[in-house]
Parts: sequence; C-alpha cells; structure tokens
Amino acid sequence: MSSLPNFAPPHFDSFEAPRPELESLKSQFAALQEKIGQASADECQALIGEWESLRRSIESWQALASLRFHQDTTNEEYKKEREISDEMAPHITELNINLKRSFLDSTHRAALTEHYGQHAFDLWECDITTFEPVIRDDLVEQSKLVAQYVELLAKRDVAFRDDTLNLSGILKYVTDADRNTRHEAEQARWDFFSRHSEELDSLYSDLVQLRHKMAKKLGYKNFIELGYKLMQRVDYNQEDVEIFRQEIRDVVVPLALQIRELQKETLQVDELMFWDEDVHSIEGNPAPKGDALWLIEQGKTMFERMHSELHQFFVTMADGGYLDLENRSTKAGGGFCTSFPTVGMPFIFTNSNETAHDVEVLVHEAGHAFQNRNSQTKSLSDYVWPTFESAEIHSMSLEFLTWPHMELFFGDDAEKFRRYHLIKSLLFLPYGVAVDHFQHMIYDKPEATPQERHDMWLTIQKMYLPWRNHGDIPHLQKGGRWQLQRHIYGMPFYYIDYTLAQTCAFQFWVKSRENMTEALESYIQLCKRGGEAPFQTLATSAGLESPFKKGCLKEVVNHIKAYLELN
Ligand code: ZN
Repeated sequence: MSSLPNFAPPHFDSFEAPRPELESLKSQFAALQEKIGQASADECQALIGEWESLRRSIESWQALASLRFHQDTTNEEYKKEREISDEMAPHITELNINLKRSFLDSTHRAALTEHYGQHAFDLWECDITTFEPVIRDDLVEQSKLVAQYVELLAKRDVAFRDDTLNLSGILKYVTDADRNTRHEAEQARWDFFSRHSEELDSLYSDLVQLRHKMAKKLGYKNFIELGYKLMQRVDYNQEDVEIFRQEIRDVVVPLALQIRELQKETLQVDELMFWDEDVHSIEGNPAPKGDALWLIEQGKTMFERMHSELHQFFVTMADGGYLDLENRSTKAGGGFCTSFPTVGMPFIFTNSNETAHDVEVLVHEAGHAFQNRNSQTKSLSDYVWPTFESAEIHSMSLEFLTWPHMELFFGDDAEKFRRYHLIKSLLFLPYGVAVDHFQHMIYDKPEATPQERHDMWLTIQKMYLPWRNHGDIPHLQKGGRWQLQRHIYGMPFYYIDYTLAQTCAFQFWVKSRENMTEALESYIQLCKRGGEAPFQTLATSAGLESPFKKGCLKEVVNHIKAYLELN
C-alpha cells in the first residue's frame, strides 16, 4: 500500500455523505453478525470487507455532520444534523463492538490475524471493554454537554476595545508586541471566562460525574482506567506515563526555567507576567506576510520544493476545496483534521489570525492529512488513523521538516521563526504533561468541588510551570486557566499524546539537521504505515527512540540546548 489512493475525489462543494438510517444499519449489521458463525476464513474476510464499506460511509457522514457544525455553530440545520449524529453515535458504537466481539471469538481468528495483522485485534480487545448498552444514554448526554462547551467557547462575546470578538479573534492581540495591548487582551479573554464561570464549572462537573458513572457501570475503579482504554493505549500504561512526567520534571522544567529567564531579558521586563509568556521577542513574534489564501499558495510552493508526493497531496486538498482556514465569527475555535473515507480525503479546519500560529497549524494539520490520505487504502478502518500519540508524530514532525522553507512565509524573519518554534515546542512539554497530570487528579477525585478543581490546577502549575505569574487577572488567580483547554472537556486524557509525539518530532528535527533527505523519506514511510502498529512499534520502525525509554528526553534536550546556545 505504498502509492496514493486511486480515489478521484469530488470537489468538496459537491461532496455528499448521506445520513444512514439506524434501523437499516441495525439489520445490515445483524445480517453480517449472523453469517460470521458459519463462515469460512475466506468468507470472514469478505464479511469484514462488507463491514468496512458500512463503517466508511457512516464515518464520512459523522465527520461531515461534525465539520459543518464547526464551520458555522449558529446554523440550525447543521446543529440539528450534529445532534442526530450524537444521538446515533452510541448505537453505532454498539453495532461495531458487537461485530468486533464476534470476529474476536471467531474460530478463524488466527487466520484473520495473519491476514490483517495483530494490532487490529489488540485494538478491538481494548474497544470491547469500553462499551455496554447500559452506558448508551450517558454517551448521548456526554456529547450534548461537550457541544454546549463548544458553542459557549465559539460565542462572539469577548469585549475588546471597541470590538466584540470570539476567542479565536482575540488571539492575535494576546501575542501583540505592545505589552499593554496583550495585557488588555488577556484581561478581555479571561473576563469572558469569569462571566461564564458558573456554566463552565457546572458543565465540567457534569462531565466528570457522568464519566465516573460510566466507568463504574463498566466495572472500572474510576474513569482513568476507562479513559486509557478509550484512547486505545495498548502498549503503555499509567506507570509509563508517570515515569515520563517525572522525566519532564527532572529534565525539561529546569531548561524551561532557563528559557523563561532569557525571555525576561529579551523582553526587557522586570517580571515575566502571564501576558508575556507567548511573546519571545521585543518586536513581537514573527508573523506570516499574508492571509488564508496566500498561505495556501505558499504552502503549494513549499511542498513542491520538499517532495513530489507532498506536493501532489497538498494541491489535491487545496484545489478540491478541502481546506477551511479563515476565521469567521460563527466558526468554532481551534484547528483539526478530519477524514472522509468514502472519497479517500482528509479535510483541514483552522482559524487563521495573521500570527505565526497560522503557519504552524496549517503545517501541523497537513501532516495529519498527508498521513490520512496515504492510509485510505488500508484494509481496515482501524488503520486509517493511528492512535493519537502516533498521529501527532506525523503532524509535529512535519512542523520541523518544513523549517528550511519558512522564508516563504516569514521572509527575513524565518530564522527568528525557527528559534521561536523550537522554544515554543520545548515549553509545550511541561504544559502538556501538566494537562495530563491534572486530569489524573480530577478523575481520581470525581466528587471535588469546582474550587477544589481550580486548586488542583494551581498545584499542578507550581510543579510544571513554576514561573507563572497571573498578575491582576482574577480568573487565572482562581486557577481557571485549564478551562480554555478544549481537550479537557471534550477529549479526556487526549494530551500526553502531544508530549510523547513532540519528543518523537524533536528526534526527527535532529535527524533532519543531519540529513534532510533521509529524514523526509523516513517520515513519508512512517506516514504510509498509518495505524497498522501501536505507538512504540511505529516510532522505533522510523528509527526513533520510545519516549518512555530512560535518557530519551535528556538527549533531545541536549540538542535543543546546543541550538539555543544554552549551558
Ligand atoms: Zn494534531
């Protein structure tokens, strides 16, 4: 499966993914289920093929319903479709899980494993422990609560100077070169959180309690265990993660403190305040020289210079309308890449705001999309995306592999951008594990009050971000910074993944500085493997060391120190 899929994708404007009928799905799945028992090994494969085409059309519809809602959170029709999708999701999970159980129990399991690989069966073993019909309604309730959070955060309700912005819109002021502007912008941003504090707290309390209840119903001690299963972590566990967090505290936090000291000097401030943290140069962070359309054109040139396969992929995305990069006032925040397996296409959604982030997020999501596009012909849907920590290697590594072409976006500021990007990526590690550690505390004590949760965040911050000074911003003083982190509400335990992948991406960075051609080739091969193996197997197959291996982080940190000329 080394070549690009043969799909000739339609233009996105004419792409359709019809809503399936639940009753019809039920009977189609039941028919498959009935046949598995008597089927030969070959027939089992044919049944898996039939199941695959069902899965792919369902996934395309679900992805489209979710994407359209994110593109316009105020459109009633889109909202309705997303609600229908949310309602139907647990039923679809149940249908899939029943089939997974049957294939796991099949007398031809050995032959099937031989054909499809061990990994899918490990994933299914994991999946079947995450659902029983008794949590069906809880899952619907969970989707509703998460959607409320997304809608709340998409509100155009951030009062800044004479304007009313959404949270994506305020971002560029938060990193403004002028200190007063960014201070004012942070005040406006956190004032939004203060005003919606009650709703944010109550939504999260409901989510935590609901998740705890589901875990108990499924026989787990708490949601932590279930959370790991839902993230399909089949080759590492809580202890490995704890060791990794300890390594971050030992090896990365001291360097981060050193960088923060340096930043204080660079910005010529007496004290580094919360609103200074994201600015790394007195004249402001480097910014790209154009808007969303310009970004796409520069992206085409960049990928053309890098590799023919990357170029072909990106042109297909851009010309096919599979990129939505502009910030509109009703669009949900954030950036992501989703996938439409019926036409073999990924889709990139971002909110550009004329900061360096536009370039970072476009390249990041392009990494996901390139991998996804190259894995569309895999025999199983389970292999089209890898598990999340592996998927983030593709995105975060591409951010480094594109370094030599940053002149296209930043002109003379390209080197400034590279340094900024490296520093930011390093500083991300302690933040990332803080978000992970915090969630372990949360789900270990589901009965905590909102203020106790904020206190937990403050405790965690001291451990991982000891330089942090909130100044005069009440919501931050109270410990509410975490409420901005969408994953904490919507995708529990999805966060350590970024830090594991970042550690791998740094290794790609080191390799690329030794030999870019080889690094790029090895990156493309990794993308083509898609999700056919678990995290550590994929990483080592690309010549990377597992982040769980003692000493791995230390080595990465030494390279970064050398680049930044720090001792
Ligand atoms: Zn990502």
